[in-house]
Amino acid sequence: MAIRLNSNEDIEMIRLSADLLSRAHAEVTKAIKVGVTGLELDKIAEEFILDNGGKPSFKGFHGFPATLCLSLNSEVVHGIPKKAPLKDGDVVSVDCGVILNGWYSDMAYTYGLGNVKPEVQDLIRVTKESLALGIAQAAAGKRTGDIGFAVQELCEVKNPYKCVRELVGHGVGKGIHEDPQVPNYGRRGDGTRLPENCVICIEPMVNLGKKGVYTAKDDWTIVTQDHKPSAHFEHTLAVKVGGPDILSTFKYIEEAMYANPELVKI
Ligand code: MG
Ligand code: MG
Repeated sequence: MAIRLNSNEDIEMIRLSADLLSRAHAEVTKAIKVGVTGLELDKIAEEFILDNGGKPSFKGFHGFPATLCLSLNSEVVHGIPKKAPLKDGDVVSVDCGVILNGWYSDMAYTYGLGNVKPEVQDLIRVTKESLALGIAQAAAGKRTGDIGFAVQELCEVKNPYKCVRELVGHGVGKGIHEDPQVPNYGRRGDGTRLPENCVICIEPMVNLGKKGVYTAKDDWTIVTQDHKPSAHFEHTLAVKVGGPDILSTFKYIEEAMYANPELVKI
């Protein structure tokens, strides 16, 4: 499949979708606390998206049952929100997607809830920083390997962590997952060339321990093989000449995070 190219007007439509998604995330940020359940967080996100004219893009996708992917601790991604309450010390990864006026966006953030071990706080911080470094490579004419290299170099060379290989970033816009694939590892100059006005999601999934993962018995949740924690951050962005135009934003999340006394300030 070819990479879908967007007009500047298309990109503004994806920006609107991503803005709603960013604000939906912040509603979840406000509600994360010890004792809240995954199902309660899911309901908050779904109602906010529907109330603002959007649709959750994950719900019903290949039968996925929820608005959020909520992945705790050793769960990497694709966790299903449950009725179990969140606990002090949990690593809470929230991934969500929105469709607004037919345009898709996708974004994820990882929180430390309460007393999270310093080494795990560092994993979360480094994963977030690796997203920023990957995004900085997203200029027209660069290649997916330039992004993967930047992410991997920070996580695996400058830090003792491991990037997950089995799951990758992707194009987005008219569908939930479009071409190209955007791995979180690679070599400079390798991979797919990024044309101007393609829109992609970059989403490092980074493990504290070994890189291996497996799919749990629910057929959805991806879990680390060594059961050590994992973190995940994601933005939707447009590739432009000279650099990226980031369409989703962590601004609302970060405002809510700083106002939420139970969250580690990442
Ligand atoms: Mg996502
Ligand atoms: Mg994604």
